[in-house]
Amino acid sequence: MRKKIVAGNWKMNKNVTDAQQLMIQLLRYKNNNATNCEVWIAPPALYLTMAKDVFDKGQVGVFSQDMSAYESGAYTGEISADMLQSIDAKGSLIGHSERRQYHNETDAQCNVKVKLALDKGLIPVYCNGETLEQRKAGQHFDVVKTQTETALFTLTADEIKKVVIAYEPVWAIGTGETATPEQAQEIHAHIRNIIAAKYGQDVADEISILYGGSVKPDNAKEIFSQPDIDGGLIGGAALKLEDFSKIIEGFNA
Ligand code: PEP
Repeated sequence: MRKKIVAGNWKMNKNVTDAQQLMIQLLRYKNNNATNCEVWIAPPALYLTMAKDVFDKGQVGVFSQDMSAYESGAYTGEISADMLQSIDAKGSLIGHSERRQYHNETDAQCNVKVKLALDKGLIPVYCNGETLEQRKAGQHFDVVKTQTETALFTLTADEIKKVVIAYEPVWAIGTGETATPEQAQEIHAHIRNIIAAKYGQDVADEISILYGGSVKPDNAKEIFSQPDIDGGLIGGAALKLEDFSKIIEGFNA
């Protein structure tokens, strides 16, 4: 059965004191509550080693928000897959829409990063999704298909099984506007069908596909109840334990 996951993307938020406080709250929560899903966080890169120290028994998976497409060398400001591997990080977000929007990241680059992450034993959380203009123009199915194929279809079946996909419609990120559970489900099923057409249904059925875009305590349960939605990538609501824990509990019966 594929993994159920709730992952928090902290983006560029919190100073070191506040970051540590939230990690400790989350650790206590995890220690005191049985959860029906894996819990992952992607704090700013500066706090990754702290996160590894706090979650020293792997209670929460630690991810970077991005990683370099290059192995090592003169790439100022970047962090490498090797560095992430050396702190025993679980993986990295790749191709988040904010990386695409503000850093012109492309699916071809995501393809290189995904492969590099896998080569280093890291889980790539590959993010895709259409813009508002693309949805209004009825292009969302095609956009997501092209993104998925370009970034992932050079992988072998064994490799793609290790990838987690996060479908995040750009118009729903940080806007308070959420795709309806039905809108999200139809794209998730579409992504799974695209993968099944190339790699077979068994492979497609093993891949966790998360939904991201203004998931909140009051809509998480309904979104997570859709058959092809295996969890969420959570931005704003991951910054407070009260909200994040309620989203995690969206997987409770
Ligand atoms: C995100 O950044 O991945 C995200 C989904 O953000 P938010 O939940 O704030 O929309």
